[in-house]
Amino acid sequence: MVNSPWQVETSPQAGSPGPQPSLPTAASPPGEVPWQQALARAIRSPEELCRALRLPSAGPQGRAVQAARHFPVFVPWEYVRRMRPGCWDDPLLKQVWPAAQEDRPQAGYGPDPVGDLAARRAPGLLQKYQGRALLLASTCCAVHCRYCFRREFPYQEQPQALRQFQPALEQLAADHSVREVILSGGDPLVRPDGFLASLVEQLERIEHLQWLRIHTRLPVLIPQRVCPELLAWLKSTRFTVAVVLHANHAQELDAQVERTCRKLQRAGAVLLNQAVLLRGINDSVPALEALCRRLVDCRVVPYYLHQLDRVQGAAHFEVPVEQGQALMEQLRRRLPGYAVPRYVQEQSGAEYKLPLA
Ligand SMILES: *Cc1c(COP(=O)(O)O)cnc(C)c1O
Ligand code: SF4
Repeated sequence: MVNSPWQVETSPQAGSPGPQPSLPTAASPPGEVPWQQALARAIRSPEELCRALRLPSAGPQGRAVQAARHFPVFVPWEYVRRMRPGCWDDPLLKQVWPAAQEDRPQAGYGPDPVGDLAARRAPGLLQKYQGRALLLASTCCAVHCRYCFRREFPYQEQPQALRQFQPALEQLAADHSVREVILSGGDPLVRPDGFLASLVEQLERIEHLQWLRIHTRLPVLIPQRVCPELLAWLKSTRFTVAVVLHANHAQELDAQVERTCRKLQRAGAVLLNQAVLLRGINDSVPALEALCRRLVDCRVVPYYLHQLDRVQGAAHFEVPVEQGQALMEQLRRRLPGYAVPRYVQEQSGAEYKLPLA
């Protein structure tokens, strides 16, 4: 299961939940703090989330507690302040709210929906596709997305310290067909910059590696994570860098996120976005069109729109494929081709993410 950052030994905030904000609300958010502190003081319970958003405790809160016990709530204040106070229907809140439905078993939904376990090549290294390999560079995230396909992943068995990645690095060095390394997790940017810079330095020594891709939600969640230290190692790497963000709704992309994207671009990174098609969150033409337009405003190319992976606990988010295809048809009519994402589904054992439209 995805961990919360404060549990990681390598993070500076390890073991200490950090100073708690003095009862701020979404309407009066706390000021900007260093990103490590933003993680340390993130919200960790449905009750706290209700208080922050001034939601009446008579709502679905009681039943949520059970779901939160299995997969804890974790959401930074920086994200909460983009939610509308008092609104259960908020598209950002719904991504992090532990709904009672999560505990209902559903046929066809399992703990490893996309065959990750069968794709392990070394501890922390997954390879499914030609020329690309994925490093589970972190076992933590800066938010717990309730629909996450890795919400049941056995992260406790993954490498933590840099030296534990040695077998993965050796495997990458031995396989000359791999051109691109993807840092994923968890969220790789939960790691300190010193760790990331050392890892990337070791990858750079493997000559046949040329491209580095970073899959992260942090620039959207906690924009100050894109700090001078991060930009420094990004600028200095010999790799061609792509940063794949993960935003599902235009409301996530405020002016500060836009400025943050600019910083990454100035450091030389190509910016892409992947979204998941989610019931009640972005399953309408206006929501998807606004997301794509806002991404282009931020100079981020909408790369993928994923069909939900059938992980247990996420069934209530699923949108039927036929509805997804109808939405794509409308998007194509309304947007330039470069602003239309590829609607794809990951299938265990397939050689690429299968296009659905
Ligand atoms: C999704 C994924 C990739 C990336 O696929 P692209 O189609 O190149 O974006 C690579 N490796 C693994 C294991 C993946 O799950
Ligand atoms: S979707 Fe990404 S950021 Fe969200 S919990 Fe899963 S791995 Fe973490």
